[in-house]
Amino acid sequence: MQWIDLRSDTVTQPTPAMRQAMFDAPVGDDVYGDDPTVQKLEALAADTLGKEAALFVPCGTFGNQLALYTHCRRGDEVIAEDNSHLVWHEAGAAAVIAGAHMRTIEGEGGVMAVEAIERRIRVGDDIHEPRTGLICLENAHSNGRVLPLSAMADTAALARAYDVPVHLDGARLFNAAAHLGCEASEIARHADSVMFCLSKGLAAPVGSILAGRADFIAQARRKRKLLGGGMRQAGVIAAPGIVALTEMAARLDEDHQNARYLAEGLAKLPCIDLDPADVHINLVWFRFNAEIDASELMSALKQAGFLANPPHQGAMRLVTHWQVSRADIDRLLEVMQRVLSD
Ligand SMILES: *Cc1c(COP(=O)(O)O)cnc(C)c1O
Repeated sequence: MQWIDLRSDTVTQPTPAMRQAMFDAPVGDDVYGDDPTVQKLEALAADTLGKEAALFVPCGTFGNQLALYTHCRRGDEVIAEDNSHLVWHEAGAAAVIAGAHMRTIEGEGGVMAVEAIERRIRVGDDIHEPRTGLICLENAHSNGRVLPLSAMADTAALARAYDVPVHLDGARLFNAAAHLGCEASEIARHADSVMFCLSKGLAAPVGSILAGRADFIAQARRKRKLLGGGMRQAGVIAAPGIVALTEMAARLDEDHQNARYLAEGLAKLPCIDLDPADVHINLVWFRFNAEIDASELMSALKQAGFLANPPHQGAMRLVTHWQVSRADIDRLLEVMQRVLSD
């Protein structure tokens, strides 16, 4: 059976063009600086983001933690939004790798108030206080919302005033750009370093990029080696990343339109709380406002050929990507309608 997989955009298979690019890629030992395909990807990524340099890393978590490790000293405090990936889904790595700890702020739709950030910044000489080493933003936020550019600009201005760097977890940076109708570089300019994933909606099989100033990336390259992320003939996996940037970034709006279509359909069903206006990208989050039989729902979905993550604490997420079509969504809505109307 050909599953329609709505669990995440990380499940995307590489496109035929990506598989061909992998086959054709000229490669070399990238730890020696010999891999032309990795170099091409890194140059393209840096250029696309408007940064001096970029580094190919194994995954998004690696890129984020490498940024923390490069920006921070041990004992530093990292300010981040309370529901961010860094806080929830990176296995406490900040404490293990950078030796930093997280100071969180609950945001409004993912946006941390500038005053709340300023209250927490500590850059003085008081020997009791940790130093604020970094401020992290997440855009698009994993709650499916896109932070407005003005909010990013305000945070960047505050950070500059205190001489604290800003890191952007842009796992879905190109989704944010598609939603805002701007270039990725217009978002990236509000951060000193940026991580984005090639392996989510952009459909590459593996890999992420960390970008920033040339001296920052030179330090990060050394630390990538230390962490075991120096990869040899990595051109084979960098090649689909080039296709991701040149071909797949431009089609993300299609996933967003499908997500909005799905959201509008779900909002009409019984037991579901969802405001389609909250669906900015390809992540459709909703809540059940009544007792539902989750195991019945999950088995009905499975029987109809859909993979989805079950509801967690009353909330459920469905994700669109290049391998989910309008017709799939219509079928999914029929199944949900049938189960929820029982
Ligand atoms: C997926 C994701 C990451 C991590 O990427 P992996 O490649 O899964 O390690 C980081 N931040 C956000 C917001 C993500 O959605």
